[in-house]
Amino acid sequence: MIKSINPATLELIGEVEETPIEKLDQIFKDARVAQKNWAKVPLEERAKRVVKVNEVISKQFDEIALLISKEVGKPPSEAFVNEVYGVVDSTFYYYTNVVDFLGSEEEISLGFYESLDKRSLILRKPIGVICVIGPYNYPFTIPFQQIVQSLMAGNSVVFKPSSETALVGEKIQEIFNAIDLPKGLVQTVYGNGSKIGNPLIDNADKIIFTGSTATGKKIMQRGADTLTEVALELGGKAAMVVFPDANLERTVLAARWGAFTNSGQVCAAVKRLFLHEDIYDDFLENLVNLTSKLKQDIPTKSNVDVGAMINEEQLNWVDKMVQVGIKEGGKVLIGGRRNPNLKGYFYEPTIIEAQDTNMHIVQEEIFGPVLVVLKFKSKDNVIEMVNDNQYGLVSSVWTNNIEFGKKIAKELETGTVMINEVVYTFALAATPWGGVKNSGIGRTHGKFGFIEATRPLHINIDQYKEKDLWWFEYDADYEEIAENFKNIASSLVVKEPTTK
Ligand code: NAD
Repeated sequence: MIKSINPATLELIGEVEETPIEKLDQIFKDARVAQKNWAKVPLEERAKRVVKVNEVISKQFDEIALLISKEVGKPPSEAFVNEVYGVVDSTFYYYTNVVDFLGSEEEISLGFYESLDKRSLILRKPIGVICVIGPYNYPFTIPFQQIVQSLMAGNSVVFKPSSETALVGEKIQEIFNAIDLPKGLVQTVYGNGSKIGNPLIDNADKIIFTGSTATGKKIMQRGADTLTEVALELGGKAAMVVFPDANLERTVLAARWGAFTNSGQVCAAVKRLFLHEDIYDDFLENLVNLTSKLKQDIPTKSNVDVGAMINEEQLNWVDKMVQVGIKEGGKVLIGGRRNPNLKGYFYEPTIIEAQDTNMHIVQEEIFGPVLVVLKFKSKDNVIEMVNDNQYGLVSSVWTNNIEFGKKIAKELETGTVMINEVVYTFALAATPWGGVKNSGIGRTHGKFGFIEATRPLHINIDQYKEKDLWWFEYDADYEEIAENFKNIASSLVVKEPTTK
């Protein structure tokens, strides 16, 4: 049995049965049968059937938000805005746009070959059975969106939630059970990733994984045996770069929310704050002061800003990293300890000044409420500092000069760069989500997410009445044809390339 504990109160809130490994064969068989039939359902009809989840969710907005709150430790209102709303908004967007993204046949120009009555079409085809493996920090919105995109694109889904959030996983299954979908199209399995993970990878046609970089690499390695495709949404160490001309009143509030929302357990959370030397002292003083005003408590109480972390192990690891930071010369300006007034897994919002980018606290992802601050002198200096990191998920630049911000954005090594915003672009269903370097490969959300959930099918159509020029026999006629090919090839030599 997987026990679900409320990390804020330490109460047992439920139990879910682990899926026996022996059952996986049948689960994948059912998923394959369901997928074959589902793929024959017209795209528009699939979208109409899947969007019905929004109606089911709308009848239990508060119930779902409360469940997320109790299982993850975040305030219910935050769970609603960042997770439940996110699912409804994105599902509506996918329903409205999927036909535009996947519904048409793209005709490709074939150049010379068209003179021989040949043409090519590209269609998007579903992949088959997609296994969605989810993390604990946004247990509803992250996998839900990936499941919706996979289904609309014509796949079936085997979903494995994090064992920390098995009850939210059950809720997701319950929502899909409540709409009219073929049996076996969405199935949820429960269990420890190290036990159940390999058989999932071996049986699925594609893995859409969200979680730590270490686990993502294991999945990719295992996937190599069966050439199982992977999309990996992994860890991050988001940088926020503040120039003196930014709207500093807004910027400081963004830094506080970006660092401490969901107790900092956010892949895109602001983890490294780079402040220009001209504003460093005042900005930091203001930020520390504002951070001291955050209310940390049991998240179901009113007006709580920061709740609990997911478990003891995660909390201890965060604390260990803070201690490493102190040993390396970091200066804790606020927090830096477990909250002594609460019995759950509460770590105080923490701000540490760092001396340079070599420190462990600057280099490694600390998945908790810990913000590391560094000073910079110039644009070039800060670009180098930001890029000196293994992760590349998101970053942000704060300036009133948008052209200047865009110049910097092009030089930062992350999948998304926000100018004057933090974290929130995960909520944009229309824009691609994904990282570079150790933050992952592949993209979810928007058109790119649908491309990730499908494969191109190339259909080549030939209406030429004669035998093709290059077919046997290689006789005197063929020699002449070969000469003609030389003439055509010569016409393709570009002596003075011009930009078109
Ligand atoms: P995790 O890697 O510990 O677990 C993620 C999932 O993988 C869980 O469901 C787990 O059971 C499963 N798993 C573990 N070992 C496995 C294996 N060998 N094979 C298959 N599955 C396995 O991550 P977590 O602690 O749940 O989440 C935190 C991490 O996720 C952080 O690093 C965070 O940055 C990252 N994250 C990234 C994104 C993103 O979009 N890039 C979003 C959220 C979280």
